[in-house]
Amino acid sequence: MKCSECNNEAVIYLSYSQKFLCSKHLSRLVEKRVGASIREYGMIEGRKRIGVAVSGGKDSLTMLYLLHKLLGKDRRLKLIAITVDEGIKGYRDVSIRNARRLAKSLGIEHHIYKFTDYAIPMDRLMKHKKTDPCSYCGVFRRWILNKAAGELKLDALAIGHNLDDIIQTFLMNMMRNEPLRIARFTPNGGIIESEAFVSRIRPLFSIPEREVMAYALCNNIDFHNGECPYAAYALRNPVREFLNNMEEKYPGVKFRVLNSYLSVLKNMKVPENLTTRTCITCGGPSSTEQCKRCILLDKLKKQMGH
Ligand SMILES: [Zn+2]
Ligand SMILES: [Zn+2]
Repeated sequence: MKCSECNNEAVIYLSYSQKFLCSKHLSRLVEKRVGASIREYGMIEGRKRIGVAVSGGKDSLTMLYLLHKLLGKDRRLKLIAITVDEGIKGYRDVSIRNARRLAKSLGIEHHIYKFTDYAIPMDRLMKHKKTDPCSYCGVFRRWILNKAAGELKLDALAIGHNLDDIIQTFLMNMMRNEPLRIARFTPNGGIIESEAFVSRIRPLFSIPEREVMAYALCNNIDFHNGECPYAAYALRNPVREFLNNMEEKYPGVKFRVLNSYLSVLKNMKVPENLTTRTCITCGGPSSTEQCKRCILLDKLKKQMGH
């Protein structure tokens, strides 16, 4: 098949716009859309030091590559890559190499923060506790990224969530009746998030997963394609499948869900009783006396006999 814009061979078909695109035109489309998202949501407005959370998978590496391509020439801005090493052998150690390689080739400063230093490595934790690894990992990862943001004086932290991630989470939060969580997963900073946490920006929020994948392949981004061995996304998997089936039957449905989500966000109000305290153990921001990470860590250490 030929590209709908030129005479080159097409690499992807976009059913929502009924277009075949070659590698050059797919790349151009993705870059244009990400650039527009960054501007429309003021993701870098008034900000100088932008952290980029890079796991080494296709989404985060594509994000790093794109941010460098779109913003790299702006001398007022500095991109800083951060990788969290959760201590998962055969998975994260492999993907860290991809992260390091890309950051180095783009000339971007790269920092690695380890669970060994601030939490309990997941491999060790899993030997003691088999339930719900993602929630532990998530709490620790979030705390570490926030600590890194403070130490590196970041004005914002870019997270590589693509369109599929965003709308899956949106539906999951509705299915669990957690409306306030919807307000946390925004394109530019959580509207219910206190200022003590670094603002999270999501430059890829308007790019479907398969286009991120195609972009990575077309631009020779060398990513680690493994899945976390502990991923037990009980709800996410069927939701992903449902949305993919719907998109196949009704092209464009994913964009429509995204737009519904953005409209809901615009109409959400910040709760008034939002206070931030300081964790008595680590000194980090917390809504309770001790933060979630410190509560979990104390509990786990007790259980594991430390
Ligand atoms: Zn073309
Ligand atoms: Zn704490």
